[in-house]
Amino acid sequence: MAAVIGSPVAHSLSPVIHRAAFDAAGEDWTYAALEVAPGKAADALAAMRTLGIGGLSVTMPHKEAVADAVDRLDPVARSLRSVNTVSWDGDQLVGSSTDGAGFVASLADAQVSVAGAKVAVIGAGGAARSIIDALARAGASDITVLNRTPDRAETAAALTPVASPGIISDISRADIVVNATSVGMGSDQSLPCDPGLLRDGQVVADLIYHPLVTRWMAAADDRGARTVDGLGMLVHQAALQQRIWLGDDAVIDTAAMRAAAMDALNRVPTREGSATNSTPRTTA
Ligand code: NAP
Repeated sequence: MAAVIGSPVAHSLSPVIHRAAFDAAGEDWTYAALEVAPGKAADALAAMRTLGIGGLSVTMPHKEAVADAVDRLDPVARSLRSVNTVSWDGDQLVGSSTDGAGFVASLADAQVSVAGAKVAVIGAGGAARSIIDALARAGASDITVLNRTPDRAETAAALTPVASPGIISDISRADIVVNATSVGMGSDQSLPCDPGLLRDGQVVADLIYHPLVTRWMAAADDRGARTVDGLGMLVHQAALQQRIWLGDDAVIDTAAMRAAAMDALNRVPTREGSATNSTPRTTA
């Protein structure tokens, strides 16, 4: 058995994505969504030990608290001080962070190479930090970080020597531009940057997956950029969790996982009760 812990967790897409993966692989694992109140992450890990749960996904607000409560951290989780995956190594609980590597895998899926690329990351929260770390590990030559709160951009850029706080014109110079803010999520029509800064030949990636095509992505597409949606990151961070729990030989069907997530997103109700892509009610 595996589970996701978070609060709130009722609208997490992790159960449908992981159940699709286990089904496609013919694994008889079950996967539950467990509501764990803020401040109770260590208790959830104690329950994992007692109940023999095989793996945990960790979502907000527990990623930092779980990093403090596991027996050991993998190098990425140690660098970020944040955990989205808990697994067993013998009798030890190991914390990992697959978000950033999931983003890089989603770029690879879209035939986008990170090695040697100049990247502009808009945002400096938890998601931005994980992708900055992963982009550097994947060989990005230069990462500029732009954020509404400049201090946070400086802190996020300090994760790696190839990153630095940026200025707005860095967006036009970048090979890859990433929106790692929540601007444009759900019915929010605002834009993370002026689309006039985007250009033909760039790759423009949005971490938001609800809606699947954000207004910013549509504007980037109009300007000739290639766009990459946030659902790829969500699916690939889960695929990497599967690999951690099941081992390197596991058969992981990311197409089945994406189809299950798309199906769930298409059924997300709006305030009016119909199913469209306009209300932000989903999480990992
Ligand atoms: P977070 O830690 O709360 O960070 C939010 C970021 O958005 C900060 O940089 C914040 O800037 C910025 N921001 C928020 N409102 C803004 C506004 N009105 N104007 C300008 N900047 C604004 O959240 P997170 O966990 O990093 O998540 C960020 C986004 O990534 C969310 O949309 C989330 O759904 C998405 N995400 C996607 C995946 C995936 O698998 N696709 C995974 C994780 C997250 P300040 O620092 O100035 O507050």
